[in-house]
Amino acid sequence: MRPVIMWFRSDLRIKDNPALAAAAATNRPVIPVFILDDVHPGKWAPGGASRWWLHQSLSALRKSAPVVCLRGDARETLIAFVKDTGAESVFWNRCYEPWSIVRDKKIKTALKEMGIATESFNGSLLFEPWEIMNKTGSPYKVFSPYAHACFSKPIRPPDDTKIKVKWKDISSQNSIGSLGLMPKIEWYKGIEKIWAPGERGAAGKLKAILEDTVLDYSSRRDFPAQEGTSRLSPHLHFGEVSPHAVWHAVSRHFTALKSSPAAQPFLRQLIWREFSWYLLYHFPGLPEKPWNPKFASFSWLENDVFLKRWQQGQTGYPIVDAGMRQLWQTGWMHNRVRMIAGSFLVKNLLLDWRLGEKWFWDTLVDADLGNNASGWQWIAGCGADAAPYFRIFNPVLQSKKFDPHGQYIKSFVPELHNIPDKYIHAPWTAPADILKKSGIVLGNSYPQPIVDHALARTRALEAYKRL
Ligand SMILES: Cc1cc2nc3c(=O)[nH]c(=O)nc-3n(C[C@H](O)[C@H](O)[C@H](O)COP(=O)(O)OP(=O)(O)OC[C@H]3O[C@@H](n4cnc5c(N)ncnc54)[C@H](O)[C@@H]3O)c2cc1C
Repeated sequence: MRPVIMWFRSDLRIKDNPALAAAAATNRPVIPVFILDDVHPGKWAPGGASRWWLHQSLSALRKSAPVVCLRGDARETLIAFVKDTGAESVFWNRCYEPWSIVRDKKIKTALKEMGIATESFNGSLLFEPWEIMNKTGSPYKVFSPYAHACFSKPIRPPDDTKIKVKWKDISSQNSIGSLGLMPKIEWYKGIEKIWAPGERGAAGKLKAILEDTVLDYSSRRDFPAQEGTSRLSPHLHFGEVSPHAVWHAVSRHFTALKSSPAAQPFLRQLIWREFSWYLLYHFPGLPEKPWNPKFASFSWLENDVFLKRWQQGQTGYPIVDAGMRQLWQTGWMHNRVRMIAGSFLVKNLLLDWRLGEKWFWDTLVDADLGNNASGWQWIAGCGADAAPYFRIFNPVLQSKKFDPHGQYIKSFVPELHNIPDKYIHAPWTAPADILKKSGIVLGNSYPQPIVDHALARTRALEAYKRL
């Protein structure tokens, strides 16, 4: 019997995987394959932290499926693999990066010409981006009406049936190591300690949030010292759990507690994820070009020293530094702090949002083309439904409000461990004797602020006015 191929991509799971279910339903032997394609994405090939995750996630997937791991131009590699294996059809779940869409269309055509059938499915979004349109048939540009439209549509429940797949195992000659995903320098030790990539890790996290996090998500989600958010983002990005499974698990949980509306704040975040991918689909230039064309002529500054200080968490603003160090040490940053640190880069330092986007791309384990691009455009004020440019976060006030006792700061900026709460948000305001008692020498053990917020704010507003 000729086998069929299951091409795993951003859906590294067995459960609720529509393409895999369809491949299994053919009753033919199924050969699972993953192709590391660094050719088509160009500058958006996975960054360092994503590559580490991918290696771990593929290793986890291999415990359930004998995945053959290949590397190269996906079009050429897949066509050669189909020929080698004599497969009669190929199944996959759709990816929505602009380059994936173009590439996959070409692959479909080429395989069709060879007499090979292809079937693709939606395994990673709650809605296809072309399904939700406004009354005039155009894409929504504002989140609230888009979210309203989403909430009024049914979302398919996850397929909980245990599928039986007749795997054809030809993976023995092939190691995940051959993909070269693991870095030579072991910078990932901190990341390794806190994450469990793979389907089991994702399921464990989903179970844990139902027991604790989502119950008071709306009151805790903005406080970075608390485990008040799900931390499902890398699992969702790599498709180790489907958004459908998360959506229905959370909805059912609150229905059982007879408080369905309380699920909304969390479910809304899943809709933000949809909106980001929706925007990327309809505006494929999103990662590179300001969505609001007015910003194309914005006069960003160039300052490599400040960029480095921001990347290294050495700006002298403790909340920003804590965030940037959390990112470096754990591969993840709390959403509230992403907003504060992002705003600091584009408004206080007046550096181009694309520099921040690129740094996040390389260092986040959840680096995601849609969410990252729309997050940065939102911060910079040039995105769809973005925060207005003149709303400039004050890093000190944000810090006082969302990390009042400096617990989050202290966990990533140990130099400030002994400073009283009153001064931890702005150590330069502390009297000399307090600094001395706390063991801090500004400019030595901890930096002086690299810019003055009030002056930087005025400068940013002037630059904005010139647009
Ligand atoms: C500048 C900037 C860059 C960002 N880059 C990314 C990125 O590369 N990858 C990424 O997944 N998210 C990104 N986000 C969005 C958000 O910060 C993360 O999704 C969130 O912090 C992940 O943590 P969590 O899983 O605990 O989220 P939760 O609060 O538990 O939310 C549940 C899920 O909803 C989705 N979600 C939550 N908030 C957002 C949001 N604002 N936009 C889109 N989806 C959201 C995520 O998939 C998340 O896992 C970015 C935000 C900003 C401001």
